[in-house]
Amino acid sequence: ARLSKRRGGDAPRPEAGSARDFSTLPGMRDFSLLQAALDQLEMQSPLFQKHDGLAAAHSRIGGRPVINFASYNYLGLNGDRRVQEAAKAAVDRYGVSPSASRITSGERDLHGRLETALAEWHGAEAALTFVSGHATNVTVIGHLMGPRDLILHDAAIHNSCTEGARLSGARRLPFAHNDMAAAEREMASARRGAQRALLLVEGHYSMDGDSPDLARCVELAHRHDAWLMVDEAHSLGVLGPTGRGVAEAQGVDPTGVDLWMGTLSKTLSACGGYIAARAEVIDWLRHTAPGSVYSVALAPPLAAAALASLDILRAEPERVARLQRNGRGLRDRLRARGFDTGGSQGSAIVPVILGSSIRTVKVAGALLERGVAAQVVIFPAVPEQSARLRFFVSSEHDEDDLDRVAERLAESVAAVGRTESPAF
Ligand code: PMP
Repeated sequence: ARLSKRRGGDAPRPEAGSARDFSTLPGMRDFSLLQAALDQLEMQSPLFQKHDGLAAAHSRIGGRPVINFASYNYLGLNGDRRVQEAAKAAVDRYGVSPSASRITSGERDLHGRLETALAEWHGAEAALTFVSGHATNVTVIGHLMGPRDLILHDAAIHNSCTEGARLSGARRLPFAHNDMAAAEREMASARRGAQRALLLVEGHYSMDGDSPDLARCVELAHRHDAWLMVDEAHSLGVLGPTGRGVAEAQGVDPTGVDLWMGTLSKTLSACGGYIAARAEVIDWLRHTAPGSVYSVALAPPLAAAALASLDILRAEPERVARLQRNGRGLRDRLRARGFDTGGSQGSAIVPVILGSSIRTVKVAGALLERGVAAQVVIFPAVPEQSARLRFFVSSEHDEDDLDRVAERLAESVAAVGRTESPAF
């Protein structure tokens, strides 16, 4: 597949250099260059791969069976019969679309039930859902903080957080990934000039598969009279003995975190995002955040699916144990074969850093030919020489899958190593 398909290619285009020329947009050059390099090498793009059917541990791509490590199906709930049935029943009862925002178009009991369950899960007083995880971060951070404020965040934080920070107009200071001494220095130097401050981290980073020192984050934030917000997109159902996330994994009191953020799209196999926090800030967001007031409510089948998934997560903690065993198992197998798995702590996310973008794309292609799908992360998402494959493990992979992946990856790297690999 090409990166993009052109239909009706004869539409008139503005002259090159015109302000209406789309080809001058930021980022356009990067993927055009990648496409040109792929064309020259007669290679398929690894992006927008067509998956057939469920995003499950064993799935189909291009009609062929694959062991799938490219989806965030951490606990194997994507396609779980109970989750599907809950979504179908919600469609029958409430329809697909809630039609408008809750403030104008009315509440459904499902939203309240899901939010109570999410709040309880995080040990928080209340929670509020939004239509996506990305939208949650953008609207909540953008609304909570303002131009007189400071946002201090890990350099590896997700795009949705930096977009929210940009929208807020607050001063934005990144610190080196997981470097709490750097965070301390930045906070000490910048806190006084700001009215409010927010320390923003992820519970489990999706690029590297590692976590911050949460107790230090709580201590640093509160000592400087700042809020602490933790994005648990990749920690819910993944970290801690029962999957409650980074606080449970590190034995930290969850009430030290002012704002928990999470998504319904990964472990909970639905779509949507949420904030769990003290009741007064949740009420304020419910009544004033643009993504709550001016956007449609979470769709009923998605709310029902997330609620059903959360019930299963609570009832079947053995899924979490299986996931964690698989994560460690994959990381150890890959390391044993000499692969660079970066800072991965061996939970559900295992990166393999391969070098240049083109080499990484080639290895991904060779791996897919051998029946294994991994996520490709290339420049500009990461620096050019740290392009990587990311493996997202599921509780539903088995030992044989893990053995096969390590073996197939070694074969793929060897196969690519014998071909020319120009730097991108
Ligand atoms: N936060 C993090 C850390 C994420 O990785 C993602 C998505 N990958 C999001 C937020 C956005 O969530 P969603 O895809 O559910 O919109």
